[in-house]
Amino acid sequence: MTTKRMQHVHVVGGGLAGAEAAWQIANRGVPVTLHEMRPQRMTPAHKTEGLAELVCSNSFRSDDRETNAVGLLHEEMRRMGSLVMQAADANQVPAGGALAVDRDGFSAAVTHAIAANPRITVHREEIAALPPSDWDSVIIATGPLTSPGLAAGIRATSGEDALAFFDAIAPIVHRDSIDFDVAWFQSRYDKSGPAGSGADYVNCPLDRDQYAAFVDALIAGEKVSFHDWEAATPYFDGCLPIEVMAERGRETLRHGPMKPFGLTNPHQPAVKPYAVVQLRQDNRLGTLFNMVGFQTKLKHGEQMRVFRAIPGLERAEFVRLGGLHRNTFLNSPKLLDANLRLKAMPRLRFAGQITGCEGYVESAAIGLLAGRFAAAERLGEPPAPPPPTTAVGALLGHITGGHVETIDAGPRSFQPMNVNFGLFPPLSRSPSRGPDGERLRGSAKTLAKKRALTSRALDDLARWVGTSAQRPAAAE
Ligand SMILES: Cc1cc2nc3c(=O)[nH]c(=O)nc-3n(C[C@H](O)[C@H](O)[C@H](O)COP(=O)(O)OP(=O)(O)OC[C@H]3O[C@@H](n4cnc5c(N)ncnc54)[C@H](O)[C@@H]3O)c2cc1C
Repeated sequence: MTTKRMQHVHVVGGGLAGAEAAWQIANRGVPVTLHEMRPQRMTPAHKTEGLAELVCSNSFRSDDRETNAVGLLHEEMRRMGSLVMQAADANQVPAGGALAVDRDGFSAAVTHAIAANPRITVHREEIAALPPSDWDSVIIATGPLTSPGLAAGIRATSGEDALAFFDAIAPIVHRDSIDFDVAWFQSRYDKSGPAGSGADYVNCPLDRDQYAAFVDALIAGEKVSFHDWEAATPYFDGCLPIEVMAERGRETLRHGPMKPFGLTNPHQPAVKPYAVVQLRQDNRLGTLFNMVGFQTKLKHGEQMRVFRAIPGLERAEFVRLGGLHRNTFLNSPKLLDANLRLKAMPRLRFAGQITGCEGYVESAAIGLLAGRFAAAERLGEPPAPPPPTTAVGALLGHITGGHVETIDAGPRSFQPMNVNFGLFPPLSRSPSRGPDGERLRGSAKTLAKKRALTSRALDDLARWVGTSAQRPAAAE
């Protein structure tokens, strides 16, 4: 098939994900039209008309590919010819071990590369409803501030509960970092439910004094305020931040997310806990547990201080801290297939933050995959997902199936996530000895485990990228 006769793939949204998707599609020899609404219609956060504008911080976080999951994601994207990473590397500013960029230079580099690519056409227009039915392959990458008309169209197609307009993020901890000499597994009243065993929750007990001190710390803790334009976003009672619940009355939490009923502490069966913090399994691998009902606007440093005062969580390693923001994201594990297509309308594919990933790099990474999948489809090739052992594969797995959905009161359980090692399948054998045969302990053991995970990821990525379907097309 020649480029002239091939129908365009349409990408809606020229942010981090959309620009990367368009670039990847064009690199496979497939023509693409990128629709970006700015400058005709701005979002409340964007200030320029540049593609891939960074709306807040100028940091892509750690660039350490050996012991940091986002650093590994950078490296994987570089190896897959990512435009976002090329532009970031070319516009670095000093930031220690982090990759930070000159935001204007970065956005200009992406905008120029897209404009100069003969296979990409840019239309500056809002797609204010579902894309026309004769667009047979569309990637929607309109981000957390998707314009209302398109959001309404998506919602009408995928259902009332399919699209959320704010996130309500509870902190997530590594199971390995919970102290099970204090905490224990048990479901309330030992109920097993459809997929449970009767011992599905991790429980952390508090006595009366600990509870009182915890409520005081929540109320006194420093909070992040809403942006002016966020304040108008309605959030309902089931999604109240935990500190707002605490402010409503000293016993409110004990009768809400911290109720102690139906639970017996096997470490001290005769002592009834005054309150209990429950954590629920978050991923199928069973490596991550979220703190049930603990969505919060506390500052990140405060969250670590206040939540590590909970018995059993003194050494908790947080893979995600809590938050509550204006956002737009799909219930992706339910709605999208393994190639990011809407099951109900497979001509629509989604990419970026709207799929439920979080962060500039993660959004671009999902754009990269969506672009490759769309190009493969257009070329008549099977779109092969990356191995789940890679950072990009682990992130895709979280979005399209790795999360364990639970139906409870309150916010729905699928919430945005940064890439982190908890999303990776565990190693078949964790390293226990160093290069000189010495027994590894503590942080040396943790670092060795991270190095083994990143080296496995890069080996598996090399094999995947080496298959013919992942190679770029020859230049025209
Ligand atoms: C206020 C705020 C601050 C954030 N700060 C950070 C941060 O510091 N660090 C971090 O890593 N992440 C941050 N994020 C989260 C997220 O990673 C970024 O928003 C990221 O830009 C998401 O990439 P994206 O491509 O999915 O969306 P975006 O980069 O937002 O791109 C979406 C594009 O779609 C366009 N668009 C929207 N609707 C339409 C339509 N109907 N038709 C055509 N075009 C449309 C928009 O104009 C925009 O250009 C922040 C998010 C917000 C909202």
